Amino acid sequence: MTPAMSTPTQTIPSYLQADNLGPWGIYLKQVDRVVPYLGHLARWQETLRRPKRALIVDVPIQLDNGTVAHFEGYRVQHNTSRGPGKGGVRFHQDVTLSEVMALSAWMSIKNAAVNVPFGGAKGGIRVDPKTLSLGELERMTRRYTSEIGIIIGPTKDIPAPDVNTNEQIMAWMMDTYSMNEGSTNTGVVTGKPVDLGGSLGRRDATGRGVYTVGVEAANHMGLDISRARVAIQGFGNVGGVAGRLFSEAGARVVAVQDHGGTIYRDAGLDVPALLAHVAAHGSVAGFESAEVLENDQFWDVDCDILIPAALEQQITAANASRIKARLVIEGANGPTTPEADDILADRGILVLPDVIANAGGVTVSYFEWVQDFSSFFWSEDDINARLVRIMKEAFAGIWQVAQDNKVTLRTATFIVACKRILHARELRGLYP
Ligand code: GLU
Repeated sequence: MTPAMSTPTQTIPSYLQADNLGPWGIYLKQVDRVVPYLGHLARWQETLRRPKRALIVDVPIQLDNGTVAHFEGYRVQHNTSRGPGKGGVRFHQDVTLSEVMALSAWMSIKNAAVNVPFGGAKGGIRVDPKTLSLGELERMTRRYTSEIGIIIGPTKDIPAPDVNTNEQIMAWMMDTYSMNEGSTNTGVVTGKPVDLGGSLGRRDATGRGVYTVGVEAANHMGLDISRARVAIQGFGNVGGVAGRLFSEAGARVVAVQDHGGTIYRDAGLDVPALLAHVAAHGSVAGFESAEVLENDQFWDVDCDILIPAALEQQITAANASRIKARLVIEGANGPTTPEADDILADRGILVLPDVIANAGGVTVSYFEWVQDFSSFFWSEDDINARLVRIMKEAFAGIWQVAQDNKVTLRTATFIVACKRILHARELRGLYP
């Protein structure tokens, strides 16, 4: 008799599986799906499948112990047909060129979807920033900024925060670029501190956008937010703010997962207390008055709304059939694989895709850039009102395209955005 095989305690991470398309492969698949709807603009589709420009930089810094460490950094400008490149910079140990290419392409789609006058770009450094001291982090940020300085600028390409980057890092980037240029250029990055040309409302903007379009979608589905059960993956700048806004609207945030673990409370977690706990301890781990779940159990949680707000490729063919939610709002970039997208669609689960759901951040980045250029700053009420208006209008247009063409909201968003990008491309014509 053969002995029973032991059950593996750890599954192979999706990015290591042989059939994994990777983020860039996923993006190309999303483009394939939009091509039949592009009409005569399909002629220019190859534009969408190639980044305009990609830069790999070596980032050497002296560590506090006197040794020298080298990190690999990237800045990719996917498309600039509609305006300068725009998109964040992430510091993460899994960053690769292919990932940054995909993230830059999703920025092109996102910026066109909300109709802000930017192309798409993204940057990153492969590093676990938690292993660096503050001084090392500053030196790495400054050297990286100097290295990508040959392609960024207020009218060329404007970085912003993303995973593991924040206002302080944007301040160092702005200062480094400005020192090299010999003049203070606040408009070279967005997401800066308010005292340094940053915008009121920028910090909460992505989460506010997630909430705004989430409510719009829920209304269309007849889902009552004040009775909804919400599960959130990632409780940082995006998931934390969205969680706060949903709970203020009466929803129960029943489960939260982050890098520290997964917590659950059937009656609803105390969101303000959880936000304070995460601010003090760095993760949800150790939060009292909640049950601890195995990480994998997160996908089985009984909820109406699921908000993946962490990293890519979280909802996969392996867990999509277990999801109980009726509505998935993608706060993260690229959290759902194409196979999972199909499973969710077949099961009648509505997916609000990243390229519209998390566009609130870059929308307020656009406001920040405009304010920096005019040196005239707006009130937070004005900013939030304009943000909500843009998000609602974009959502309404996309919803209509989805109904008219009987396609998912992701394909509808790609139809709207790709048409805008390729129309601009056609009007500009080929150079020379
Ligand atoms: N990193 C954010 C995103 O993925 C914001 C980018 C920006 O503001 O430029 O949309």
